[in-house]
Amino acid sequence: MRISRLLVKTLREAPSDAEVESHKLLLRAGYIQRLASGVQTYLPLGLKVLANISSIIRQELDAVGAQEMLMPVLQPLELWEESGRDKSFGEILPAFVVTGRGGKFVLGPTHEEVVTRTVSAIAESWRNLPVTVYQLQTKFRDEARPRFGLLRTRELLMCDAYSFDADKDSMAATYEVIRLAYNSIFSRLSLEVVPVEASSGAIGGDVNHEYMVPSSIGEDLFVSCTSCDYKANVEAAKGGKVDESDIEANLAEGLKNSQGVDNLEFYTPGSGSIAEIADQLSSHLGKLGSKGLIQALVGKDENGKDVVMLVPGSRSVVLPFGWKLYEEEDFDVSKRFIKGFIGPVGLEGVTIVADPLVSASPSVGWVVGGNKADTHIGGVFPRRDFNVDIWMSLAQVEDGDLCPICNSQVALRRSVEAAHTFQLGLTYSSKMEGATFLDKSGTSSQYWMGCYGIGVSRLMAVVAEANCDNKGLIWPKAIAPFLIHVIAIGGTKDEKVFQSAEKVVGELEDAGIEVLFDDREVSAGVAFNDADLIGIPWQLVIGAKGLAKGVFELKNRRNGEKEEHSLEDLAILIRDLLV
Ligand SMILES: [Zn+2]
Repeated sequence: MRISRLLVKTLREAPSDAEVESHKLLLRAGYIQRLASGVQTYLPLGLKVLANISSIIRQELDAVGAQEMLMPVLQPLELWEESGRDKSFGEILPAFVVTGRGGKFVLGPTHEEVVTRTVSAIAESWRNLPVTVYQLQTKFRDEARPRFGLLRTRELLMCDAYSFDADKDSMAATYEVIRLAYNSIFSRLSLEVVPVEASSGAIGGDVNHEYMVPSSIGEDLFVSCTSCDYKANVEAAKGGKVDESDIEANLAEGLKNSQGVDNLEFYTPGSGSIAEIADQLSSHLGKLGSKGLIQALVGKDENGKDVVMLVPGSRSVVLPFGWKLYEEEDFDVSKRFIKGFIGPVGLEGVTIVADPLVSASPSVGWVVGGNKADTHIGGVFPRRDFNVDIWMSLAQVEDGDLCPICNSQVALRRSVEAAHTFQLGLTYSSKMEGATFLDKSGTSSQYWMGCYGIGVSRLMAVVAEANCDNKGLIWPKAIAPFLIHVIAIGGTKDEKVFQSAEKVVGELEDAGIEVLFDDREVSAGVAFNDADLIGIPWQLVIGAKGLAKGVFELKNRRNGEKEEHSLEDLAILIRDLLV
């Protein structure tokens, strides 16, 4: 491909709204173009990278027997009503419902309903199972804050796979096979990917993993134990174990320290914010500050039942999926909770759910809301002063928290989620009409399903972010849009140079190598800068001086090393590059 014919315009400066390096470079080097916030066009160079990533994904999934197909973007809304996800998918869905002559359609953010309908009409017997299908498809997500170019977008290219098995064991076996295929995909993309336990969110199922690429630009955090293999997404991470004997020991220690002075009532006028109370009670709390407070948040669980959640004042709450915090009008309706002064002591008739961190009382006891205006109570201990109905991980995990497996400390790592896999079990087949097959005994049985998603366009950004320097992109050979970037210094101005460059390009192309040929009449400086920016793995430079000696220069974009080769050795070079 000649650059003079390629639809590309490199930019000296990135647009001001580009925040991270990969986004700046993909824009500057002419891989993508912004159409609207979170909506990008893939220019010819960008599409070639996407196609190369897609081809690696296809090869690895085909190799484990998955079959490619293509499902529609437009999904009848009735399908979502059948699975109940028209409601449970949260606020994201309404924006995707479009009305046309055929009725209401969802612009697909994911395809579980469609694929269940499709497969159940064909795989009617246990003999047809297991079956795994996949597609490379445009998905829609109504992102509130699209950011970082291809990392968080409203329209994205995704590869989603779905497996159907006859029983649970078989589902788990298929899940492992696809996980191995995913590992091969990531290793071919030269990406360090850490699979972590995750929460299933709006997709459903019991077992699932997220595949995290550690990266400073990541918006996700995962927890990794410093001594065992425990790794989890922060939302799924369980912050330590609750040991009943520890609760007793903390209480005994506390009683010793507090010299029998317990359940002190404090006058804490104001809004009841954590900072305010920590400030008002600084002489009681001392160095503990907000760490000595319990914040009690009222909410509703997935069945709409009231719950009071307890976490240390210094932590934010991670709500379990489907739970909500009370809104202003909920407080008005119930009238039983005094906002800012809610506490577990004496609170009856409501489920109290506490994070394991609450079991580790400070030696002066906790300070909690007094359930009346402008009042807090100090010297409070769980078990003695209040009961916890459910111990459950609710607090955001932090560096130094204890591992739920081995009790060593955990560390937080910033990362980008590259893929997500789920064992769905019967989540969809139990809700969707006719999602059954005849088992060996001739009985109608529900499918055991799995689903698996890789963000293809996101991977392009993730690889770019991990492979760049201050001059530009440095594509790994496996997905580079071209393998060699040939530069004829001076372009068509120097006829001899240009002709021998054309000859070299012809030989490379005949050998099956994809070549980007800079045939423009630009200065050597401009040509070199653009070549570094675009980031093809090798640059082959032909100039008048070298040509007089019968040599060309080959530069490795990654390490910058340059070598001179005789033009006569081109065939050997081609052979080496093809390996
Ligand atoms: Zn551990």
